[in-house]
Amino acid sequence: MLQQARSLLEKHYGYSSFRNGQEQAIQSVLEGNDTLCVMPTGGGKSICYQIPALMFQGTSVVISPLISLMKDQVDALLQAGIPAAYINSSLSAADVHERMMKAKQGEYRMLYIAPERLESYEFMNQLMELSIPLVAVDEAHCISQWGHDFRPSYQRIQRMITQLPVKPVVMALTATATPKVREDICQSLNIDEDHSILTGFARENLSFSVVKGQDRLPFLKDFLKKNETESGIIYAATRKNVDQLHDLLNKNGIRVSKYHAGMSDEDRISGQEDFLLDRTSVMVATSAFGMGIDKSNIRYVVHYQLPKNMESYYQEAGRAGRDGLDSECILLYSPQDVQVQRFLIDQSSDRMRMPQELEKLQLMVDYCHTENCLQRKIVQYFSEMDMPPCGRCGNCTDSRESRDVTKEAQMVLSCVIRMGQKRFGKALVAQVLTGSQNRKVIDLSLNQLPTYGIMKDKSAKEVTSFIEFLISQDLIGVEHGTYPLIYVNPGGKDVLMGNMPVQRKEAVQTKTLAAGDP
Ligand code: ADP
Ligand code: ZN
Repeated sequence: MLQQARSLLEKHYGYSSFRNGQEQAIQSVLEGNDTLCVMPTGGGKSICYQIPALMFQGTSVVISPLISLMKDQVDALLQAGIPAAYINSSLSAADVHERMMKAKQGEYRMLYIAPERLESYEFMNQLMELSIPLVAVDEAHCISQWGHDFRPSYQRIQRMITQLPVKPVVMALTATATPKVREDICQSLNIDEDHSILTGFARENLSFSVVKGQDRLPFLKDFLKKNETESGIIYAATRKNVDQLHDLLNKNGIRVSKYHAGMSDEDRISGQEDFLLDRTSVMVATSAFGMGIDKSNIRYVVHYQLPKNMESYYQEAGRAGRDGLDSECILLYSPQDVQVQRFLIDQSSDRMRMPQELEKLQLMVDYCHTENCLQRKIVQYFSEMDMPPCGRCGNCTDSRESRDVTKEAQMVLSCVIRMGQKRFGKALVAQVLTGSQNRKVIDLSLNQLPTYGIMKDKSAKEVTSFIEFLISQDLIGVEHGTYPLIYVNPGGKDVLMGNMPVQRKEAVQTKTLAAGDP
């Protein structure tokens, strides 16, 4: 069986061997198991359902969330000589009808459909008439409220499957599955969790780094100059940021395109094409850019501002180095960005989801403050698996000496305890420690505390950053209500009792970052 799979890989895709995980995933499906396949972006998930679809009799159905993604996939299949079609809201009723007729005659090996289709009674009736050996659910995290892209219509998939006259094999695929999301997917689609294929989340050709305490624009210009001949993406948080940054780089003679949802279709498409065809080397974009884009020679992805969570970050950063060559993923961190993201969360999400989103944002902030291996931090986030330090990332290659900061940590921790657990945020704690005369400090008589002013040789900003570091080390916890309130974790108590030392690399000289905009 696998022999045949291999020859199809050669014949249709021109590849001589399977990548890590592909073979196991295909085998599991061929054995008739409903299977969850979790692979990082660029890992090669499409082949995992396409090859079984080529081996089964009948028309396999692929659920896919994005119209553009669907069209690209189908075009690629047609080019490889595989008959396929898609059905979504971009088609007229007559076109849908025609494609469904052809599907009934068995003319397609694969039929891509948008999940919203499943809400149509008529469409469901037509599906019942097909012979469907396999249902592949792409971007399966959309099933879960815990995913970053919840789609209510994904929850109809299981009902569709149970209504089919012959039960198909079900395959769910995603790049971003925390254990909770994985559990949700398996539960929703009735997949036995033992039939999960998880491949290494580490991307061996990517080196991650976080740049803190530097002016970002000069850093970026310098970086682009050094990488003039390479192709890369710069993600910015808002449309306005994208416009500004684009104009600025353009003025500096850099060949740059832009992409965000506020542009006309025409401008967006032409900018995208310029970038894909290497007419421009840099793409400045919001997170709207990238889904379904398969440009393999992206050498770097720079995040000009903090993304909203690790899922978005890894998906966006993961667009670098799809060809397997060494590539860089750089995140430019400035504390103000956290406020921007908090604000965006406050504006957009429904109230029910807010605590979750804030918690995810906090984990993103932790990523920026950890001194441990960044790739390892990512892998642990997504899979709760462990890996040795990557040896490539900004932290692994940071040769600065660690300093013992146990004393300072104890000062902070005892101040948090004296101010009351889960009562205040880190900014106020920093003010108390540095002896601020702030109204709130005085009004609450916090200047009477024995820990008041014990770190007054430091700036409030330095102390805040140190608190962030202690949070990233799990010594301080954060509770997300209207305001994030901090408290001392069990680990922090160990430090207070002198049972655990704390080490930190010497912080770089912090300069003030220009607020928000480029
Ligand atoms: P994903 O959906 O996991 O993000 P894709 O299925 O789009 O990834 O595949 C990413 C890239 O890797 C594509 O260009 C694809 O052709 C390529 N690819 C997939 N499988 C292999 C393989 N076995 N050998 C070489 N390249 C592969
Ligand atoms: Zn590392």
